[in-house]
Amino acid sequence: MYKVIIIGSGCAGLTAAIYAARADLQPLVLDGHEPGGQLSLTTMVENFPGFPDGILGPQLIENSRKQAERFGATFRSGAVTSVDLSRRPFKIVVANETLECETLIVASGASARTLGLPAERELLGHGLSTCATCDGFFFRGKEIVVVGGGDSAMEEATFLTKFASQVTIMHRRDEFRASKIMLDRARANPKIKFLTPYVIEDLHDVEKKNLESIRIRNVKTQEVSKMHTDGVFLGIGHDPNTAVFKGQLDMDENGYLTVHDGSRTNVEGVFAAGDVHDHVYRQAITAAGAGCMAAIDAEKFLAGHKA
Ligand code: NAP
Repeated sequence: MYKVIIIGSGCAGLTAAIYAARADLQPLVLDGHEPGGQLSLTTMVENFPGFPDGILGPQLIENSRKQAERFGATFRSGAVTSVDLSRRPFKIVVANETLECETLIVASGASARTLGLPAERELLGHGLSTCATCDGFFFRGKEIVVVGGGDSAMEEATFLTKFASQVTIMHRRDEFRASKIMLDRARANPKIKFLTPYVIEDLHDVEKKNLESIRIRNVKTQEVSKMHTDGVFLGIGHDPNTAVFKGQLDMDENGYLTVHDGSRTNVEGVFAAGDVHDHVYRQAITAAGAGCMAAIDAEKFLAGHKA
């Protein structure tokens, strides 16, 4: 029986682990299917206070994990397959084993969106990627396409110019939702060109299991054409990892958990932190702050409730 189980090991989960461990709650952190969360897939983090020269995302995660371990947090890998939050102790199933806890902190984050094309599944890892930091290295000297018009697309495209000979940002509208500074940085990069308003209709060649070209459509003229590319990176946003909580935890129409009074969910003793509920700010520092709040809320809850 754990006093606190934390689902997720990104910025929110690890900060919750540091606070819960320092409160002597000996938390167990379940790593999930994306250990380290989104920061482990990014490069330089320039806006986390305390690092005047920036810090690499994976380094920030590793440091936070070590910090949590120093105070007694333990870690376990594997994704949660089901939960029973109908009564305490809560039951959490990981790799066919049922764990029990008095309080639960959900910090399972959000995952990269895909386009919904059948060929995507076949070509993921074979020219198609959702993570520039993970796969950019394989595209040295290649021509690639980055899909999306937000900050992620700008950031990925800018990062990918380190490797690629040319990066085309393809976006379905002429207007971008990216922040001005990120958009300006991409526009100023001589290796980046923009193609709007276009969408990808299909990816080839599934039979060869290698992405060689894409069928694209101009959204205004409806003209369809074929474009050669060595790789496609999807930078079209994320969806919250909340499927296992459906029917038990309240969520909005997009699947983000709803919280009240700090980090509290609709189930007493279950708290949420980070991108799993925050679709507005989505920053490392706000996720860390939310993790801190959830741990303090869990500690207070335990102090007021007997097991
Ligand atoms: P986002 O802001 O939701 O942008 C997603 C983009 O992908 C939009 O331009 C959207 O087009 C497009 N898109 C979505 N679904 C699509 C589809 N099926 N086909 C084609 N295009 C599609 O997501 P994000 O860029 O990941 O950013 C999320 C949040 O994280 C934002 O608040 C952002 O500021 C923040 N962020 C910050 C940084 C940074 O500061 N370093 C880096 C990355 C992200 P429409 O515009 O037409 O909807």
